[in-house]
Amino acid sequence: MRHAASSAILVSGWHRMGYYYSDGSYISQLLVEHIKKLHALVGNAITEGKYIVFGSGSTQLLNAAVYAFSPDTSSQSPAKVVATPPYYPVYRTQTEYFNAKNFSYEGSTSSWINKTDSSSTFIEFVTSPNNPDGKLTKGVLEGDNVKQINDRAYYWPHYTAIPSPADDDLMIFTISKLTGHAGSRFGWAIIKDEAVYEKMLTYLDVNTMGVSRAAQLRALKLFDVILEGDDGKEIFKFAYSTIRHRWTKLKETISKSKRFSLQKLSSQYCTFFKRERELSPAYAWLKCEREEDRNCYEILEAAGISGREGSLYSADNHYVRLSLIRSKDDFDILINKLNTLVAKQ
Ligand code: PMP
Repeated sequence: MRHAASSAILVSGWHRMGYYYSDGSYISQLLVEHIKKLHALVGNAITEGKYIVFGSGSTQLLNAAVYAFSPDTSSQSPAKVVATPPYYPVYRTQTEYFNAKNFSYEGSTSSWINKTDSSSTFIEFVTSPNNPDGKLTKGVLEGDNVKQINDRAYYWPHYTAIPSPADDDLMIFTISKLTGHAGSRFGWAIIKDEAVYEKMLTYLDVNTMGVSRAAQLRALKLFDVILEGDDGKEIFKFAYSTIRHRWTKLKETISKSKRFSLQKLSSQYCTFFKRERELSPAYAWLKCEREEDRNCYEILEAAGISGREGSLYSADNHYVRLSLIRSKDDFDILINKLNTLVAKQ
């Protein structure tokens, strides 16, 4: 809202109607350059010598990456797609929904530790910081046949310290968690290996013929505005202080209660802010501590608080995820209701 005019775009009805950019591709090279500039400035990902593709949100790229890491022919056994609970449910629901010959969802990584024999490829989703609990995680499976998809949606100074630039083989980012423009459906993947990049391009070509050029234009303008403000620091200072404030208020409220607890996140050195800092997660991973509070979601719901139950994240229903990245009004209402609930105990 502070940059309402400079972040606006106006597109004439006749303008940018075709499928392609002037180089014949679906991907704006100017936007690629902006993305690389921002990663270099934030220090959260290495892009030099790597390939970048765009997706309709990172959601599209998650499956494009699974496809790209899976074997080409059905004569090889299907790739096993796995993740570590609590994890973002779309990895499982999407993989199962597509019901493909060359990949299948095979549950939690814990069932496969020391069992990653080379007869099949393993595709491990690693989300760092993790949704729902905000922890900086690492992959758990090892072996040449293990491929990682690193979902870096929350690897921005808003949410976490940036200990070092991520340099994974395949990293996925999204504008949804950078600027909040989830409705523009724009994400990008940074890929080390050329063959994997080519396969992702094929997927995106067959699936949607690239990302809407209107969405790319919107994203370009937003990157422009980010890069201009206080040499690119303004949005991160703003977002970090906003979320840190919310996290601190929430911790104060929950600390008054024995019935509920929050995830523990330790502070770390942040190369972006050049100091030690607390993490400021996008979500609270709230636990109902009493054994009998097996349905934490219902306890909160009865108090007028809507979260998401732990089982959605393949975890226990003593847990509920609460969002800290909705509007200020939503957050204030959440804190008021939590204060009332805690005071009743
Ligand atoms: N990955 C993670 C970990 C997420 O939390 C989300 C959004 N909730 C996404 C991917 C999808 O984001 P989008 O498709 O909007 O880019």
